Amino acid sequence: MKKVWSIANLDCAGCAAKLEDALASVPGVESVSVNFLAGTIALTASDERFDEVAVAVLAKAARVEPEAVILTDGSVSLTGAEHHHHKGGAHACKDGCCCHNEHEHEHKHEHEHEHAHASHHHDGEAEDGGETHVLARVGVAAALTLVALLIPDSAGWLRAALFLAAYLCVSFDVLLRALRNIRHGQIFDENFLMTVASLGAVAMQDYLEAIAVMALYQIGEWFQDRAVEKSRASIASLMDIRPDYANLLRDGESVRVDPRDVAVGDLILLKPGEKVPLDGVIVEGSSSLNTVALTGESLPRDVSEGDSVISGCINLSGVVTVRVSSTFGESTVAKILEMVEASGEHKASSERFITRFARYYTPAVCAAALLLALIPPLLLGGDWRQWLEQALSFLVISCPCALVISVPLTFFSGIGGASRKGILVKGASMMETLARLDTVAFDKTGTLTRGEFGLTVIHAENGDGQELFATAALAESYSDHPISRSLLSAHGKPVDRDRVGSVEEIAGQGVIASIDSSTVHAGNARLMASIGLEAPACDKQGTIIHVARDGAYMGHLVISDEIKPTSRQAMDELKALGVTRLVMLTGDRKAAAGEIAGALGIDDVRSELLPGDKVHAVESLLGEGHTVGFVGDGINDAPVLRRADLGIAMGAMGSDAAIEAADVVLMDDDPVKLARAIRIARRTMRIVHQNIAFALGVKGVVLLLGLLGIASMWLAVFADVGVAMLAILNAMRAMR
Ligand code: ADP
Ligand code: MG
Repeated sequence: MKKVWSIANLDCAGCAAKLEDALASVPGVESVSVNFLAGTIALTASDERFDEVAVAVLAKAARVEPEAVILTDGSVSLTGAEHHHHKGGAHACKDGCCCHNEHEHEHKHEHEHEHAHASHHHDGEAEDGGETHVLARVGVAAALTLVALLIPDSAGWLRAALFLAAYLCVSFDVLLRALRNIRHGQIFDENFLMTVASLGAVAMQDYLEAIAVMALYQIGEWFQDRAVEKSRASIASLMDIRPDYANLLRDGESVRVDPRDVAVGDLILLKPGEKVPLDGVIVEGSSSLNTVALTGESLPRDVSEGDSVISGCINLSGVVTVRVSSTFGESTVAKILEMVEASGEHKASSERFITRFARYYTPAVCAAALLLALIPPLLLGGDWRQWLEQALSFLVISCPCALVISVPLTFFSGIGGASRKGILVKGASMMETLARLDTVAFDKTGTLTRGEFGLTVIHAENGDGQELFATAALAESYSDHPISRSLLSAHGKPVDRDRVGSVEEIAGQGVIASIDSSTVHAGNARLMASIGLEAPACDKQGTIIHVARDGAYMGHLVISDEIKPTSRQAMDELKALGVTRLVMLTGDRKAAAGEIAGALGIDDVRSELLPGDKVHAVESLLGEGHTVGFVGDGINDAPVLRRADLGIAMGAMGSDAAIEAADVVLMDDDPVKLARAIRIARRTMRIVHQNIAFALGVKGVVLLLGLLGIASMWLAVFADVGVAMLAILNAMRAMR
């Protein structure tokens, strides 16, 4: 079982990584992931032991990060947990909570929207106060310092006292945190490093240095917090697609209910300006939908009776009645939200590299600082004071903050930026793969083509085309395959589905249905072969549906699909991006496949494949050492989506199986978005690499200068805070 909770009040990305490490060692934990930026913690453990493990995890979290607040979904609670959330409005009562300290801070989990707001209200002063305090304290410290500087040498004790006051004013919270962390056995954190460095300076009566170092550090931290908050807010605005209510029609009256309480088959009413709460099909009325939050497409989409509507869109003009086709948990909007919330769990290798690096870097630099303080004076007869100062500046440089925060922040903003354009990337590791793709295999129907077939010809063996058509339509009436849906819409008239008994859908072949008292096969030549019929060849272009009743061949229908208007452009852009191999994998017959591939400039075409064959085809590409992406619509190709290095699904507008199986979802089925996604991913990776190189480079140079005895603590803290700020600013670029 896996549960995702929200976690707030973590100090920094480094603490999140540390907490994750600590929790992973709790017995019974299968996996645990703490996402600092999204403010979530995901825990997986066996079903039977979940509660027990969760309690142990929460207890450990309370020890390691006493300030963190974890909000569970109410199924687990720690004894003694305080329930001051309950003031917070209707939603809060659904959630039990485990608060590890008195200072509950706001948390951004959107389920708790109202509640978060409410708690912000009654706790907000503390939080906001805390923020302004930092800057105000820096100001006060600066003023005290100025006054101290004006005091003549004769009153040296007064000057020292003022300096000390300024120092304490700007640094007391860091000192307290360092003390607390030492008590919890976490030594090498930034609070500790800053404390030792600045107290060292105070001890040597370098007051100005001590104050400046702390002030800069505080300003840098404040800035980092703002940056993280800003990117969280932009992700949260993406989460704005979460619907608040549904107008359920009950006996002709509409009642406002929680979307979770609506069942499949219920009727709901959509008024202008409202968010579509659940997926469904319009049974009455027409309107236009704003899909921009889902697809990035700003042109409204016109919909009328019979069209499907997707949760998360906004109804613009008309009042429509919708028959709900999936529960809230299964709805598109819930799937997307789940995906975005879980995005931090797929850590990129560069992210893991950085956390691992930080784990060794900090203690190593601290050890170096110790050696620097001891060796030159002891062995080389150096000046104690000078080398102690150098050693202290080493401590400042050893903060890995810039790296630890900027790398995940870059991925986070890259993912956020992509999603605003209707491209959902499930996590940082997918971003990495996306940037590396060199081979892309495409499904044909619904991916490169519109999946809306028009009927071209009917060839009935006995000449009764209408009977053939009606039989085929009946047989296909329960299937969601684009072929079936197109056939039904070409048929026009409603079919009497009561005549259809059992239906079996054979992926990549067709359907077998019992109609009245006979068995009908409708599908391709392979399906006919399975009942010993040889399907006649047909020279008409397009996809063929052969129909047989009780083992006797009835005839066939030829349908043809249109290539999506942007498919050609997509292929050209991919080639320009250096995606060297484009492959088409389809279950359709050779002629139909070749025609479309020719028009698109794809030269590697593999046709008449069963879903399993598509998996083998992708495996053979993988075997050649390529980084392979597979683009499909999720109908019959979920296994391939999983098998490829990167599964790319067309269409939240279509199948939700695809959203689950895929790593990347192109919300509006537009293949050009793939090229755009690759560009975004490459840019994100570029920024990640820039940040790593830049931060390591600057630290390296300053360490070297320190070794040579040139760098002062000022320089060190400037380098540290400056690098962090620049890296963060750079990271935010990934969003645009
Ligand atoms: P693609 O690879 O183009 O996405 P599929 O694997 O879904 O296509 O199907 C491959 C072939 O199987 C189709 O071209 C069609 O001939 C046949 N087929 C699949 N499903 C159906 C169906 N529901 N009705 C009729 N034919 C079908
Ligand atoms: Mg398909």
